[in-house]
Amino acid sequence: MASKAPFPIVNGQYKMKAEPIVRIGIVLAQDAKREMQFSVPSDGYRVGTENGGDAPLEKGTVYTVRALGDGVALSPDAIGGVHASLRVAPPAGSRPTKAGDGIHVRKIVAGRGFHWQKLIDQTLSDVLEFFSQDDAIVMVNEIPIENYLTGVITGEMSGECPIEFMKAQAIAARSWLLGQPVAPHPGQPYLWCNDDCCQRYQGTEGWSQRAVDAIAQCRGEVLITESNKYCDARYSKSTGTVSEDAENVWAVPIEGLVARLDAPKGSHAEKFFPVTEENLREYILGDWTKHSDAYCSPTVVPEETIKKYLGRVDETGQYFRWQKKLTQADLRESLTTRGGLTDLASVNALRPGARGRSGRLRELDVVYTTKDGGTKTHKFTSEYNIRAALSTKFLFSSCILIDSDVAPDGTLRHVTLNGAGWGHGAGLCQIGGLGRALKGQRYDEILLHYYSNVRLERIYS
Ligand SMILES: [Zn+2]
Repeated sequence: MASKAPFPIVNGQYKMKAEPIVRIGIVLAQDAKREMQFSVPSDGYRVGTENGGDAPLEKGTVYTVRALGDGVALSPDAIGGVHASLRVAPPAGSRPTKAGDGIHVRKIVAGRGFHWQKLIDQTLSDVLEFFSQDDAIVMVNEIPIENYLTGVITGEMSGECPIEFMKAQAIAARSWLLGQPVAPHPGQPYLWCNDDCCQRYQGTEGWSQRAVDAIAQCRGEVLITESNKYCDARYSKSTGTVSEDAENVWAVPIEGLVARLDAPKGSHAEKFFPVTEENLREYILGDWTKHSDAYCSPTVVPEETIKKYLGRVDETGQYFRWQKKLTQADLRESLTTRGGLTDLASVNALRPGARGRSGRLRELDVVYTTKDGGTKTHKFTSEYNIRAALSTKFLFSSCILIDSDVAPDGTLRHVTLNGAGWGHGAGLCQIGGLGRALKGQRYDEILLHYYSNVRLERIYS
């Protein structure tokens, strides 16, 4: 049986009686951590067990949780032996208000599976639960959704962004969370993980007063679709000027997520809607890109200032237009290790297939010589598979122009990829939304551009 929506809407009733509490996986079994260390910021924190055990924790002590088979143990041992779970809870009535509030946990994986993966310390508000799955720790943060969202808007982007952008980002994140049609991690003691697989959440470390204010101002507001559902409001870093239709990314349409041009009325960019094979070269490399008024362009959000608006683990890069050169050896490595073409000896050609309206490739044919001397063509489908196959570090986007350098004897020497945007490109463009806020737009104007045929509603007070 397919797993259910975590927040099902029955009889069109999308309003809620109270703020939901969510469970976020912070350390997953796949992280293969045998032990985790944490410390509590004040006295009054307590540790509990699944069968009612309860004991105080001390400020100033670094506690270690160890995974032992399917149980967990604490040292120094405040609670006595091995348990199925341990639950660390703050003093009753305490509430996080600023950066660094909460339980300090060491060495948590950020950027899981992506090229920017690293270990960072985090402070997590509210309740932590520890489990073990085959000697690997699973750590869950049980947290009111508004506190969680404060961590999301300062993890996805920085706490220095304009407040109207932060509100737009918070509402997209809240709507996305509630709008998931199925639980992304079935069978786990959490519903969502803390990383780009779901949404990036890194506790209270990046909180700013502006982020706290932004969350308070848009408390409980979500995007509701024409059919009275929570909008599955996906988002990405940069469209590159034209956003993408959901069905061109995930093969199924998503209510509210259709391609839009992200530039003011009368902009030169209008001639690139849609982006096609014919106008692609001009769209990506044309002189107009140097002074474009597209909201995600460097004219509106200069690349030298972008670092202060990005999340803590993002690498500063060129989001609007970028270039990547791949040698025959680079292609061979990524196509065999990430693309799964294990019989590949050398690449003969990359042939673009169908594109979405943002110019993102949905299909790519790779023609290659096999190890036994034959010739094969493999069709990659979906922008995700194409991005994975063409780079060991995951290509920024599949909106690419492919130029090949071929030797006189016909062998492919290298390819130059000129690309636009970063991410799948559907829904909110984070850099574009930031650009719109810098231009003075309100959060509702920003959201109603990126999501079509939706409305804003406060679903709990
Ligand atoms: Zn996830």
